Amino acid sequence: MNIKCDKCSKDALIYLAYGKHNFCKDHFNDFFESRFKKTIRQFKLFSQKDYLGVATSGGKDSMVLLYLINKIFREKRINFCAIFVDEGTDNYSNKTFQVVKDFCTKENIKLVTSSHKKEFDISTQEIGEKYDKKEGTVCTYCGVLRRKTLNRLANKEKVSKLLTGHNLDDECQTILMNLLDNDTLRFFRTGPETGIIDIENTRPRIKPFYLTPEKEIAAYALFNQIPFHDCNCPFFRTAKRNHFRNFLNETEIIHPGSKFSLVKSFLKIKELSNLKKIITKKNLKKCKICKEDTSQDICKACELISKIKKI
Ligand code: SF4
Ligand SMILES: [Zn+2]
Ligand SMILES: [Zn+2]
Repeated sequence: MNIKCDKCSKDALIYLAYGKHNFCKDHFNDFFESRFKKTIRQFKLFSQKDYLGVATSGGKDSMVLLYLINKIFREKRINFCAIFVDEGTDNYSNKTFQVVKDFCTKENIKLVTSSHKKEFDISTQEIGEKYDKKEGTVCTYCGVLRRKTLNRLANKEKVSKLLTGHNLDDECQTILMNLLDNDTLRFFRTGPETGIIDIENTRPRIKPFYLTPEKEIAAYALFNQIPFHDCNCPFFRTAKRNHFRNFLNETEIIHPGSKFSLVKSFLKIKELSNLKKIITKKNLKKCKICKEDTSQDICKACELISKIKKI
């Protein structure tokens, strides 16, 4: 006999071990969407007066995020746009862009874009070809440039909050990685809203999927036929993160709910740490090259770009 949904007489399509829930498609959608809205309320992620920029890469997390913002908040008259950064990776960036562009055209969503080539005069493909593709190297460069470009686009478009598709699994991995790297500053910098100082030209980054497991985002995308791109970038190197992903997934099978417990413990520690005293606006400087805000003399993006250009 098929297992039935907890809420109705239909067959269950998904089982969520941490809550012992069995749901049909409709009741899973209700559950998923109410947690999404509750996370936004609980962490006060944005309000009616905000103009939201949704960082959209074409992958499942950001496409589901854009879909939900459009579905739930358009009728509440909250303004938003999609922001796409073209990393310039052969046979990859064009495909991810197409997914985002088609969706935005169909749903009449404003799309703001730029590329690494345009902002820094070098693409991820060119960076990759200069390097020996050592573990993580290209992603380190690409990630720093992507963050910088997103920030520039957010400033240019004057969005008040930048939304990202980071989910519960991403956050758990980041917490463990920072902890085991003994990187206290970075450890405390993560959270549902990042940026612990109010920097004039840096938009707060918010994560409405902070309490949403990755597998449920994939299920929601599938149940609702949300388009996304799931091919890996040719430079994708995640050995370290993968190790933590596997560890957390194995732990979750044995002890369902562990991922929720981990982020909740983290939030409690963060609350107790009185963080505002650790970093203040006084630490801020202007980068000597791009003149944008940074805590160093030269920002990370300019430092990496100078390094690449010398090779
Ligand atoms: S996988 Fe790495 S190199 Fe590829 S787009 Fe993502 S960050 Fe950039
Ligand atoms: Zn049901
Ligand atoms: Zn700079």
